[in-house]
Amino acid sequence: MPIRTGRAFLDSLRDDRQIWIDGERVTNVVTDRRFAAAAQSVADLYDMQHEPALLERMTYRAPGSGDRVGLSFIQPHSIDDLIRRREMVKIWMDATCGMFGRSPDFLNITLTGFASAHQAFGRFADNLWNYYVYARENDIVMTHTLVNPQVDRSRPVEQQDKDLAARIVKETDAGIVVTGARMVSTLCAYANDIWVMPSTYLANTPEAAPYAFGFCIPVATPGLRFICRPSVVHLEAASPMDYPLSSRLDETDGMVVFDNVLVPWERVFIHRDAEMCNGLYNRTGAMPHVMHQFSTKNLAKAEFMMGLGFAVAKSTNIDQHLHVQNMLAELIQFTEFCRACLRASEADAAPNAQRVITPAAMPLWTVRMMFPKMFVRACEIIQTLGAGGLVSVPSFTETGSTVWPDVERYFQAANADSRSRIRLFRLAFDAAVSSFAGRQQLYERYYSGDPVRLAGSLYSLYDRNEYMQRISQLLDSLEARSAAI
Ligand SMILES: Cc1cc2nc3c(=O)[nH]c(=O)nc-3n(C[C@H](O)[C@H](O)[C@H](O)COP(=O)(O)OP(=O)(O)OC[C@H]3O[C@@H](n4cnc5c(N)ncnc54)[C@H](O)[C@@H]3O)c2cc1C
Repeated sequence: MPIRTGRAFLDSLRDDRQIWIDGERVTNVVTDRRFAAAAQSVADLYDMQHEPALLERMTYRAPGSGDRVGLSFIQPHSIDDLIRRREMVKIWMDATCGMFGRSPDFLNITLTGFASAHQAFGRFADNLWNYYVYARENDIVMTHTLVNPQVDRSRPVEQQDKDLAARIVKETDAGIVVTGARMVSTLCAYANDIWVMPSTYLANTPEAAPYAFGFCIPVATPGLRFICRPSVVHLEAASPMDYPLSSRLDETDGMVVFDNVLVPWERVFIHRDAEMCNGLYNRTGAMPHVMHQFSTKNLAKAEFMMGLGFAVAKSTNIDQHLHVQNMLAELIQFTEFCRACLRASEADAAPNAQRVITPAAMPLWTVRMMFPKMFVRACEIIQTLGAGGLVSVPSFTETGSTVWPDVERYFQAANADSRSRIRLFRLAFDAAVSSFAGRQQLYERYYSGDPVRLAGSLYSLYDRNEYMQRISQLLDSLEARSAAI
């Protein structure tokens, strides 16, 4: 089956999924006011794949079927393939200002990374590969959940209340049965399938084995429930232009509850195997591909915040001031840093054990660790530039109200008429001040793991010896020289 249209995607969401929010079960995410606009945003991404001007840039012909499929499923065999894939991701990320972090390409690329090394999944290798082909050929949307509920982080999961974290409670001829919860699944309301994979370290003991699994099932599987945080869509807003990002890009985050969920054997990828769970990324080499995807997201986001900063500063002529130029230069640095690291990762890409061209990891690790701080700073810069003007803008609907003469006169800026200024400052407010902006900052801080432990991982895997040797050599030569004096 070829790439889906937005319509086909929306139709696929009309199933028996259990999405709970605000104390009620949503009957249809496509029409519910809290979800409809973001569902449409995903649909728009799917429609982009069909635009004649984008078709070639966003799709490729699948091996085997020859059908056009999304480029996020390509297994790169050259640096050009990597660049093509990055350009495809960038098109989707630009369309969402980098604010839809879990757009379908994120897990498409993760899954493709796993599939490229599917032999690493041992007796489940065929399951993994077949699932990859299924996802690619059906152009499905996936969500994922990795982390156990945040109950007690001082003890390993197997030493905690046995009824909380998702675990295997039995095996049957048909599959494994899972009960318990996982903490976050972003995009759950708009996904067709959910990945349930490991992330935190697991002890290789019989007690921890029930928590050591990986699988993927439809979101509408019986017994699966998603309990979502309240929406950041402003349901009472007079105009979507008042919250231009929140109104259409709330990805939704939900806790996942498994109530005796049957996972068919053909969808199991890891079974009671802590070693496989702990070594998943090392064995498959998937992480540099995932980082390549989200660094592209970060580039799009940095460009968006930079453009916004330029426009806000220009509107009130503050870009004349040196310290304002300093802040705008910071936004330029964030953008160019992301761009440079991405390009470096591609320039130094190399084939992995499976002969898949893999971006160099270190430049991408650097983006991963530094971008959260950059994004928080970018929000601070927009707040500093917009200042009181960010709260001194009315609803966009005032452009048609009886006080329009006042609005037209008093809300103008040196380089923007009132209408343009309201539009721009509402966008800036939504990007840097609103609850949507707060959730974006939290997302950047945590979406790829806890920064504290990530920093520890980076330190552990970095090749430090060469640099320490240089220090030793320098000291040896200094000592030798000082002895000769
Ligand atoms: C907006 C958003 C969207 C997300 N979307 C997804 C998603 O789609 N899928 C998904 O699987 N996950 C998702 N996550 C979850 C994300 O994976 C986790 O937030 C991240 O891994 C950190 O885990 P935690 O939140 O449980 O924090 P915790 O592990 O509870 O950490 C909280 C604090 O305690 C400290 N701490 C806790 N335990 C330790 C320890 N053992 N050693 C050192 N320090 C410790 C941490 O440093 C941190 O400061 C999302 C998170 C956010 C915020």
